[in-house]
Amino acid sequence: MGLQDSLLLIRHPWVERISRELASGEGVRVGFVEQLERFYELLNQTVMTGDTAWLDAILYDWGHSSTETNLEEADYNVSFVVNRMIALTIEVAREHLNEKDALDFLAAVIPVFAHSLSVVVRYEMETRVAHISNELGQVQDKLQQLDRHKSNFISVAAHELKTPLTLIEGYTAMMADTVEQSGQSQIQTLLKGVDTGIHRLRHIIDDMIDVSMIDNNLLTLNFQPLWVTHLLDLLKNELSKTVAERRQTLVIHSFEGDDLLIYGDSERIYQALYNVVTNAIKYTPDKGTITINGRLLPGFVEIVITDTGIGISPEHQAIIFEKFGQLGRADLHSSGRTKFKGGGPGLGLPITRGIIEAHGGTIWVESKGYDEVKLNGSTFHILLPTRTEASDPNIAKIFGKIETVKPESETEISVKENPPTNNSPA
Ligand code: ADP
Repeated sequence: MGLQDSLLLIRHPWVERISRELASGEGVRVGFVEQLERFYELLNQTVMTGDTAWLDAILYDWGHSSTETNLEEADYNVSFVVNRMIALTIEVAREHLNEKDALDFLAAVIPVFAHSLSVVVRYEMETRVAHISNELGQVQDKLQQLDRHKSNFISVAAHELKTPLTLIEGYTAMMADTVEQSGQSQIQTLLKGVDTGIHRLRHIIDDMIDVSMIDNNLLTLNFQPLWVTHLLDLLKNELSKTVAERRQTLVIHSFEGDDLLIYGDSERIYQALYNVVTNAIKYTPDKGTITINGRLLPGFVEIVITDTGIGISPEHQAIIFEKFGQLGRADLHSSGRTKFKGGGPGLGLPITRGIIEAHGGTIWVESKGYDEVKLNGSTFHILLPTRTEASDPNIAKIFGKIETVKPESETEISVKENPPTNNSPA
């Protein structure tokens, strides 16, 4: 028997057998039979012409026929059906043809089935990948939206809180003036307490605004020439009283690079250093030591702040630079800004990181872990780019004059004589 005759003979039993085995339910079977008839017809054409393109359209339809449920449950329905079809075709051929005709028939159709299977698998995979990336995209959009809402909320709340705070501040100042004139010292003391509260509240609100600016890339830096050593001196002056109250020692070493003239927003860098050092004070018991040291690296000044405090566990190290990373520890929240373990809203380090990163620098922490008895301590490292070119040419002009009148620093002069080409990371 010729191949064409075998194809004709097998057609009916093939459709009947496959629909019986693979379609469950009468309703499904009717549609399925039509599909099988169409497939067999195209299989026939492919075998006769040797051109698999005949099958492309139906394989495309099958490969893309996965339902939402199939996709969610990762069911590879169609490739399973085509796979079973191959086995059933062999059985049908065996039952309805003699050995030689069956062999001829299978030799002709099996390669077509193999081709069909690979095409269907590919289409099914493509559909699934598209489904997954679509789902991922939706989740990502949702997360971004949530983050935007959160950031907007922080910003709106902070600005709303600022208005009544300014009123309270004004009235308290007026009351303080009146009380001072009338000499009521007891009320003066009470007013001082109110004033401290107001300052703390203002600080928190400012932090909330800073965090939302950093989140929305709105932090603008006012680049000016600065010396790290000046900022550290200022810090020492501002914190000496607090350090004395806590009977701690603050040691600031001088190091290579601390007198190098670099460009940065000195107010913001001061704020960043202030946050790290006040944390070191807060999380170190009375009589502990806070040490500031550093070194000059190629392209960077490194500032290292070490304390002999309670340390930070590895899990905690991973989240302290995230905003509100500390919120879970309500037990630690305190009204004192430098009180031992007086946790705040957890905005200090996220702001610090935002400031340092906006300068093109980086910050990280090292600690052997949290232990209030062993006092492992923590070490914060800050890398600041040694940016020696001002982005604003007017500042560069002024800077030129500053250099000539400050001859005691060799580094500054060398900056002028050999203007560095490009050693500042963006
Ligand atoms: P907070 O307002 O809570 O101080 P920060 O962002 O400044 O927020 O710090 C986040 C958390 O990181 C702190 O609550 C504290 O648990 C931990 N931390 C920061 N600095 C230190 C340090 N030097 N030693 C131990 N823990 C620290």
